[in-house]
Amino acid sequence: MAVHDPGARSIRTDTRVVLRLSTLFLRTLREDPADAEVASHRLLVRAGYIRRAAPGIYSWLPLGLKVLARVEAIIREEMEAIGAQEVHFPALLPKEPYEATNRWTEYGDGIFRLKDRKDADYLLAPTHEEMFTLLVKDLYTSYKDLPVNLFQIQTKYRDEARPRAGLLRGREFIMKDSYSFDIDDEGLEASYQLHRGAYLRIFQRLGLEVVPVTATAGAMGGSRSEEFLHPTPIGEDTFVRSAGGYTANVEAVTTVVPDAVDFTDAPAAEVRDTPDTPTIDTLVDHANATAGDRTWTPADTLKNVVLAAVLPTGEREIVVVGVPGDRTVDLKRIEANIAGHLETGGEVAVEAAGEEDLKKHPGLVKGYIGPGLSLDAAVLGTEGSTGLRYLVDPRVVSGTAWLTGANEQGRHVFGLVAGRDFTWDGVIEAVEVREGDEAPDGSGPLIAARGIEMGHIFQLGRKYADALGLKVLDRNGKLATVTMGSYGVGVTRAIAALAESNHDDRGIIWPRNVAPADVHIVATGKGTEVFEAAETLTVELEAAGLTVLYDDRPKVSPGVKFGDAELIGVPTIVVVGRGLADGVLEVKDRRTGEAQDVAVDEAVALLRELTAH
Ligand code: ATP
Ligand code: MG
Repeated sequence: MAVHDPGARSIRTDTRVVLRLSTLFLRTLREDPADAEVASHRLLVRAGYIRRAAPGIYSWLPLGLKVLARVEAIIREEMEAIGAQEVHFPALLPKEPYEATNRWTEYGDGIFRLKDRKDADYLLAPTHEEMFTLLVKDLYTSYKDLPVNLFQIQTKYRDEARPRAGLLRGREFIMKDSYSFDIDDEGLEASYQLHRGAYLRIFQRLGLEVVPVTATAGAMGGSRSEEFLHPTPIGEDTFVRSAGGYTANVEAVTTVVPDAVDFTDAPAAEVRDTPDTPTIDTLVDHANATAGDRTWTPADTLKNVVLAAVLPTGEREIVVVGVPGDRTVDLKRIEANIAGHLETGGEVAVEAAGEEDLKKHPGLVKGYIGPGLSLDAAVLGTEGSTGLRYLVDPRVVSGTAWLTGANEQGRHVFGLVAGRDFTWDGVIEAVEVREGDEAPDGSGPLIAARGIEMGHIFQLGRKYADALGLKVLDRNGKLATVTMGSYGVGVTRAIAALAESNHDDRGIIWPRNVAPADVHIVATGKGTEVFEAAETLTVELEAAGLTVLYDDRPKVSPGVKFGDAELIGVPTIVVVGRGLADGVLEVKDRRTGEAQDVAVDEAVALLRELTAH
């Protein structure tokens, strides 16, 4: 047992230095930071874990680094447990590899670019697929070298459009990123499953609830992908679940496609004057007033929405999307699913077409737009086609009859039959997913929830290996392109999510595995006995392998000390104070607020038990 030396600024037990509040570089704040919208941001700043350096960019203080180190250690252990090996890349990288994969352009404003003194282009890496691919290409030549899994825990930079909520969406943040390299698809699937298991264990050990949801491959060009979402109302991702266990990112939900309808006996389509009916509501009212043989609803109409797919270069490709009139288009779902439907490849942003776009396509009569492609001019007796690429929602199946625009001012066509009177270039998931929609696997109606993306696993396939020429000799001595996976965990985001989901109005309540210390000891009182007893307990606990945050400040009131302890959020608080005269300490559970008196000489045993993990 170390001796209490009041003159020492800190006491060493083994290699650790006891965290003493009298000397710890920490100032807790009474006031919320003005820019903080969410609890985790407010509390992490107020409790002295982080400080804002610039929008979306944070400095780490000693307590913050303790938590960070624990989170990183858990992630590192689980990655090593699946055989992944740690490497470390620079954040500052030359442009060329990112040009080879076209991401220098595709990232648009999303990355930080800079120049060196010789005017050469560099970037601060937003993610490292290129560098890992090149490293393996440099060193490996044969299928015998594979599979290999590499990872790093490293700082990433993204010039996010809306840095938000402190560490949740930063412009500088820490990510664990790993990459798998396999000779064939079965190998990739195995590496993917290993990562999936490791991720579930990581989040479980962190104490962070996650739901793995199916995600779209999107512009990354791969095949299979899942996101691990932490359910919380402040999440930016919407996902859906069904009672039967289906979960998916909204972008990845596929529509249950209705059966095709036999149209042999369907009446011929008919164009009618429908003056002043540029909206679905006015059209439905008009139909009910003039074609009263039945009741018309928005679901009977086919709404044709003009969209612009905007390339990173700024170029715009106009497409028309036909959806049932009772549904609204979901641009993010379209964005996630439009690859392959355009003239141009690559990542695009999809937005509503503007006046300028419409002007360039006089065939588009605003408010009266009809199916754009192969609209049978004979059927309509008009010019028909808009000449633009035409995509439809999966509900527009062959044989369904629609009330829709006739591509003429003030006119609509009634009973236009899909597959008979018009066709389309492609089918796309284009409308919002609604609660109550059927899950695609038949597991019941969908309910919506919000979440934060904590991790992402992704079968990249051969896109990066192709672009950068990563080939090895296969079993037959032929060059074969390596297939890859990429896998990310938001390390700093995880800390924010943990604080977000583990707090009350007084402060943070860390899960044990990530808390900055195992025990927070508060010494209250004027006598030296109190401080001596607290000191002794601190040293004994440290010797027993626990980490202690010791509030040894001599002239600070008990109220302030308790307030700080609750704000900082170590899950077990020990008060050494008045009870000492009777030989007891108070052990408090930060989460439940429950306190128990414990005899001084039983404290170490009890605390070891309480904090065992
Ligand atoms: P998001 O949709 O939230 O922007 P992303 O799809 O861009 O995330 P990835 O590129 O897959 O994310 O990055 C891997 C992980 O890194 C994410 O799952 C997330 O946990 C974390 N991450 C991504 N962007 C940020 C950010 N700006 N700040 C903090 N963590 C981030
Ligand atoms: Mg992002």
